[in-house]
Formats: sequence, C-alpha cells, structure tokens
Amino acid sequence: MQTFGHIIDGQEVQSISGATFPSIDPYTREPWAEIALGGQDDADLAVAAARRAFDEGPWPRMTAGKRRELINKFADLIIEHGEELAMADTRDMGKPITQSLGNDVARTAQNFRFFADHAHLTPADVLPMDSGHHTYTRYDAAGVVAAIAPWNFPMMLESWKVAPALAWGNTVVLKPAEDSPASATILARLALEAGIPAGVFNVVHGYGPDSVGERLTQHPDVDRITFTGESNTGRIIARAAAANLTPVSLELGGKGANVVFADADLDNAISWSIRAIFTNAGQVCLAGSRIYVERPILDEFIERFTAAADAMVIGDPKDPATQIGPLASEEHYTKVRSYFDTIEEVGGTKVTGGLGDGWIVKPTVVTGLDRDAKHQREEIFGPIVTITPFDTEEEVVHEVNDSPYGLNAMLFTENLVKAHRVSGALRVGTVWVNCFFIRDLRAPFGGVGASGVGREGGNFSREFFTEPKAVVMQLEPPVAHPPVVLTGAH
Ligand code: NAD
Repeated sequence: MQTFGHIIDGQEVQSISGATFPSIDPYTREPWAEIALGGQDDADLAVAAARRAFDEGPWPRMTAGKRRELINKFADLIIEHGEELAMADTRDMGKPITQSLGNDVARTAQNFRFFADHAHLTPADVLPMDSGHHTYTRYDAAGVVAAIAPWNFPMMLESWKVAPALAWGNTVVLKPAEDSPASATILARLALEAGIPAGVFNVVHGYGPDSVGERLTQHPDVDRITFTGESNTGRIIARAAAANLTPVSLELGGKGANVVFADADLDNAISWSIRAIFTNAGQVCLAGSRIYVERPILDEFIERFTAAADAMVIGDPKDPATQIGPLASEEHYTKVRSYFDTIEEVGGTKVTGGLGDGWIVKPTVVTGLDRDAKHQREEIFGPIVTITPFDTEEEVVHEVNDSPYGLNAMLFTENLVKAHRVSGALRVGTVWVNCFFIRDLRAPFGGVGASGVGREGGNFSREFFTEPKAVVMQLEPPVAHPPVVLTGAH
C-alpha cells in the first residue's frame, strides 16, 4: 500500500499524533493508500513553517524571474510524473484516467506556467501627475496563504490556488480534500525537487471541522484564505475569516443552466451538453445540470440527447475506454442516490438512467419536473440532468436567474444578437456561447450569490494574492510646499 505524508518545512512527515487514514478507491471500494491524518497541531506546524519561509526565507525576496524559472521547472516535473499524478486522482476519487491524464495533469502544469509568466511579465500602473510627482503600484506578496480544496478536480483546482500564490511570492499551506489527498503530496514532493525552497509549499492532510481545515481558517498568522468547496462550508469559512479580518476568496457550488434555442446547431449543442453534465460523472461545479430547450425542438433534443447519454462507456476509471466511473465516495454516492430515488416522488419521469455496480450511477435524464422541484434547484453533483421546455427568451432568462447559484450558464443559438443580449441578462460568473469548459486564464472565474465571493484568474488573482501598494514619488523639487491632493487624478 502506498503512503502519503504531510509536507512541512521541506520534509515529508507523519502526524504528531501518528494517526493515519485509508484512502478508498471508489471503484474497488478497497483502501489503496494510507494517508497521514493531521490535526490542529499539524496545521500549526505548517503555518509556522510557511510564516518563517515568508518572513525570513528567500522566496518572497527572489526576483519574479527566478521564481518563474523554478515554477516552470516544477511544471516540467508535473508533466514528467503525469501518470503517477493522474493515477493518484483516479484511485482517490474515481475520475476516468483519460480525464485525469489528458485534462487535469496538462492543465495543472499549464496553470503553474501561466501564473509564473503572469507574475513576471504583467506591467503595473504608473500615473504621471501634474503636481510634479508620479504614483506607481507595487504588488507585494500578501504573506501566508491557506488553500483549502475539494475532491472533484484535486490537483487541478489546487493548482489554481497554489500557482498564483507562489508566483506572486507568497508561501502556502494546502489542505487537500480528505477524499483526494494523494496528488497534493506528490505535487509538494515535486516542488521541492524543482528547487522551490523548504517551507514555501506545505501540505497538511486531514478533515475540515474541528481539524486542519478549521484551524487554518482561524489561524492569526494566515494572511489569505482561498477556498473551493460547498456553499455551506464557504459560509462557515467566511465567518472564521471575519474573526481575524483575513481576506477570503470563495469558489462555491453551482447549478449550471444550459439554454438551447430552437435555432441552435443541434449537433454542437448535444455534443457540449453531454460533456457539460456527464464529465467526471457530473461531479463538476460548472455541470450543466438543468437544460432548458425551446419547445419546437424539445422532442428531437430529448431523443438525441438520451441516445448520446446511453452510448457512454461506464466502468473502471483506470480503463482508458471508460467515460463514466463511480461516484467519489460512499458518502457522496448516498447523497446522489437520495436524488435518484426521489425522481418520481417529486413528479419527474426518468427517460433513461439507472444504477450500476457499487457506487455507479448511470447517466440519468429527467423530464416533467416542476420548476421548484429540488432536483431543479439544488446542486446534485452527480450524473442526473433535468430537461425543461421554454417558450420565450424572457421566460428562460427568468428561469436561469431564479436560482440561489450563479456560477455559469451555456447558450446555444446561431443568433449572435440574441447571444449577446441574453449573456448580458444572466446573473452568472461565466457564460459560454455554443461551447463549454473553455477557459482563458486571464479571464475572471467565479460566481454570483451562493456560488462564491471573488474571482480567480490573471489580474483578479494578482489582486487577491498581493497587497497592492501605491508609491508616490516626487520628481521635481517643489518651489514651496505643494498642496496636499487627496482626490482626483492630478
Ligand atoms: P466541501 O465543502 O465538503 O469540502 C471542501 C474542503 O473544505 C475539503 O478540503 C474539506 O475538508 C474542507 N472543509 C470542510 N469543512 C470545513 C471547515 N469547517 N473549515 C475548513 N475547511 C473545511 O466540498 P467538497 O464536497 O469537497 O466539494 C464539492 C463542492 O465544491 C461542490 O459544491 C462544488 O460545486 C464545489 N466546487 C466549486 C468549484 C468552483 O470553482 N466554484 C470548483 C469545484 C468544486
């Protein structure tokens, strides 16, 4: 059995208590790895190491160019160790290996490269002033970053946090989800191998409440908290952060709406809609889990979408042919089952779908639900999709916006004017038109309402992971004391 420790101050260590926990492979439902089980004392050690590395170590004092060089070396090692990393996520949480390897490893490396370049190459503002001064902005590292991650895209979502934090000169304590711990230890081992100094990137395994997660969010030596996970956990973390006035970024749940207008290119709409809900067995914050179809094409859409869902290959996530594996854990399977088992009870019709072996739920398509049915409003986080007809643009805009969540939406239409108009009317963080999942790392990513607070990506990450500072320089010696100018451009 493989073992994975914490990485604290450059060493792979066991917990102070000596406790461990098994990581269960959700396909075999057997333990495949043994993980150090941290507690609040381990979190304290990691924060102390990150604090020392920030206050006294070379990392924040290094040039951005040198940090870029080391982070790029780290990204090279991620690609070199891609199979090991991909298999760790696949065994931890059941993601098909083609997705772990083809998508998650590649994007993890890319995230590190992008933010290393971004921190090195992005210009800052210089404001010439008529008073004979100029003001410029420095983006100084914020300090110690606590990063708390979910299990659905383990290494990839961790890299969205760790990459910008490191690139801007911060030090990090990462707590991966307890259901997907292994790849975080591998990443931190590789960061050390790349030459990133001890204490800069620490990993502590453990649970959230009364454990590592909670301690990190309450620790007075933490300068930033970046969290991705459930909306309710986000609310708890926001309260903890408020006690120390620690800035917090929250990427939370979603209930992605997918709107298919009658003029859509149906081949394209169906192809993206299938991927939008069934990738990673629907365990995606962005999952297009409620589809709205304009009535004239409703029957054709349901027929073709259902045929495509039925054609998906279900099975062992380690098999490259598999498109849908098991749900990530018994606890999560039980949650998704509770939605599956109540489809008819709330008035829905199962057009297709069913249960597979173990923790597998097959692609399930549901029609006929009222708009306020829980399956239409709550985040199921599994391969269950609802299809609802609409008659007018106003009606569907209202439906999409009438949700506690506001992470993302998709529109399928060949009418560009309508696409722009509807995109503007939706209260979500991202709108994809005739596509899905496409991401430019310079763009803002985040949600509205219960989907989160703050944005990640490019300059949005820079704002969060630095303390922007104005420096006012006097250029011309003043003849007399100049007036104090507090407002206005000059
Ligand atoms: P979760 O909230 O249960 O756990 C996320 C992390 O928080 C885990 O590491 C967990 O140990 C930790 N945690 C739990 N309670 C805590 C506490 N009191 N204090 C500190 N840490 C605590 O979420 P999950 O089940 O791992 O992930 C699925 C959720 O994440 C879904 O709601 C999904 O939509 C969301 N998600 C959002 C995005 C996004 O970018 N918006 C991306 C992926 C997943």
